[in-house]
Amino acid sequence: MTEGSHGRALRFAIVGAGMSGILAAIKLGEAGYRDFAIYEKADRLGGTWRENTYPGIACDVPSHLYSYSFEPNPDFSHIYSPGREIQAYFEGVARRYGVNERIRFGTEITRCERHDGRWRLETARGAHDEVDVVIAATGVLHHPNLPTIAGLDTFAGASFHSARWDHHVSLDGRRVGIIGTGSTAVQMVSALVDRVAKLTLFQRTAQWIAPQENPPYDAEQRALFRSDPAALRELRDQMSRVFAESFSNAVVDATSPQMQTLADICRDNLETNVRDPVLREKLRPSYRAACKRLIISPDFYAAIQKPNAELVTDAIERVEPRGVRTGDGRLHPLDVLVLATGFRADRFMRPMQVTGRNGARLDEAWAKRPVAYLSISIPDFPNLFMLNGPNGPVGNFSLIEVAELQMAYILELVAHIRDGRCRAISPTAAATAAFDAARVEAAKNTVWITGCRSWYLDDRGIPAVWPWTFDRFREEMAEPRLGAYERAR
Ligand code: NAP
Repeated sequence: MTEGSHGRALRFAIVGAGMSGILAAIKLGEAGYRDFAIYEKADRLGGTWRENTYPGIACDVPSHLYSYSFEPNPDFSHIYSPGREIQAYFEGVARRYGVNERIRFGTEITRCERHDGRWRLETARGAHDEVDVVIAATGVLHHPNLPTIAGLDTFAGASFHSARWDHHVSLDGRRVGIIGTGSTAVQMVSALVDRVAKLTLFQRTAQWIAPQENPPYDAEQRALFRSDPAALRELRDQMSRVFAESFSNAVVDATSPQMQTLADICRDNLETNVRDPVLREKLRPSYRAACKRLIISPDFYAAIQKPNAELVTDAIERVEPRGVRTGDGRLHPLDVLVLATGFRADRFMRPMQVTGRNGARLDEAWAKRPVAYLSISIPDFPNLFMLNGPNGPVGNFSLIEVAELQMAYILELVAHIRDGRCRAISPTAAATAAFDAARVEAAKNTVWITGCRSWYLDDRGIPAVWPWTFDRFREEMAEPRLGAYERAR
């Protein structure tokens, strides 16, 4: 029975056909809802994995963990598989579950307004839809952070952000500069160093690197996973446990022994694998390991020590037509300049203009910073739910596991509407404020607040991500506490 209290089937709009939008569609279908569409601004699904195609891209969560629990993939090639395999995985799942037919490609939702108890959506081309429930599956790191470096637009060679890779630009035998030293840049350095004539890495802040190996699964292992799904499930469960114990739970307790172990691993990697003491000191961060998102790479140090690689730590003064000029007056001549400068992590479903109950505007509600109750919903915005929204566990867990738990929780809330127990549901302002206060307090125990700059931190320097363990997240997602919600009849 999927009819709403008003006697007709509930209509849903899912915004975004990335990992969580595909999940939402599958789970709505399984729950018996039939009336839903996915709006996708691009002409292909995949979100992050569609947009990020830079050389070396892979996911730093093990592939068997970074896949839907209900759709294991015995054929992943590596522990950390390359981006194109992950994209192919999502495309395959979407095909198998009939999700493609639900997607309106090339259709960006620009407005979402509450009218007479429903959500009125407007697309960039002026088309409209009216739905009972909106699921914003719009991703986290998808608005490129473009640096404001003087002269950037005067560069005579090719220049682009890492998430807007221009595959027409040839790299082989050319002089390539990369600005940034996050996970993206590190993967790129290893992938490019043997292809280019010269690779220059402009480092503003050094990074701790954990030397995680990435062996392929051989044919025998993959055959075993295919023939014995239980073995694959067991592997996934084991990965989940190890990931939680050694990393996820460690970073939320800066004093934990596991945190110390991680720090030791990173320090040993630096001491052991960087031979030149001057380079070693340039690569040595001045803050604690995992304060910024920990980078994993088995071969970054080897790559940056190759004769055609150079690590530049002098600040960038400006970009000139021929290359990058640093503060020491040196010009670094380049043919290609890549901006691996990260993303604006506070955007979420924006720039969509969202207007909730009584004219409440999302831009105003989030004027200081994005806040959401349990990362899923916002007071005054009834029947609008987010997957991987603000303040959630985005930094240290498999976002797929996060989205699955969130979607199950959202379905429990939606069941109240479907069963006629209410017409609209949204968290109370008090519950949201209490959650936020507890989150800010708990953030003081995390390693993210121990003295570094990172995309985890909000405008006050407080980590904007889930500061508790994954077990706690699971417990919270197990069942909505109805006292935290307003239910309008
Ligand atoms: P990021 O971690 O935010 O790194 C951005 C880099 O650009 C930083 O080194 C930053 O320096 C530098 N930067 C920014 N503006 C600059 C400027 N004006 N001048 C000089 N340097 C500047 O971005 P990312 O590497 O794209 O990674 C973002 C997140 O995506 C990661 O943390 C991770 O969660 C995810 N990711 C994961 C993988 C993976 O699975 N392996 C791969 C890529 C990305 P400062 O440090 O000084 O700010």
